[in-house]
Amino acid sequence: MLPAERQIRIKELIQVRRNLKISELSELLGVSEMTIHRDIKPLIEEGIVIKTFGGITLVRETPGTVSDNDDCVFCNRKIDTRLGYRLILPNNKVETTCCAHCGLLRHYQFVVSPSH
Ligand SMILES: [Zn+2]
Repeated sequence: MLPAERQIRIKELIQVRRNLKISELSELLGVSEMTIHRDIKPLIEEGIVIKTFGGITLVRETPGTVSDNDDCVFCNRKIDTRLGYRLILPNNKVETTCCAHCGLLRHYQFVVSPSH
């Protein structure tokens, strides 16, 4: 299996499991723990997972889902998933606000100050 294939596999596994041990990945993918450490490095750099003691944990939700414990990026209130408003930023980052009003104000911040 190529490193890129293993990374896809790891990404799939972490979405389902949310926590994985390095030793577990090494066993599942049939490579050494050293290799797993190398494979997960880009995933950590992309901010998909964080390193925990002896393993990795999922950071980001799959795009398209609003998690229950998200806060509005604009006013920091808890987001009601039914009213949540998602905006895609110019750098392809996805942010969630509690309502369309906050979403528009947040979007406006980017329009008036593209340097942010
Ligand atoms: Zn808000």
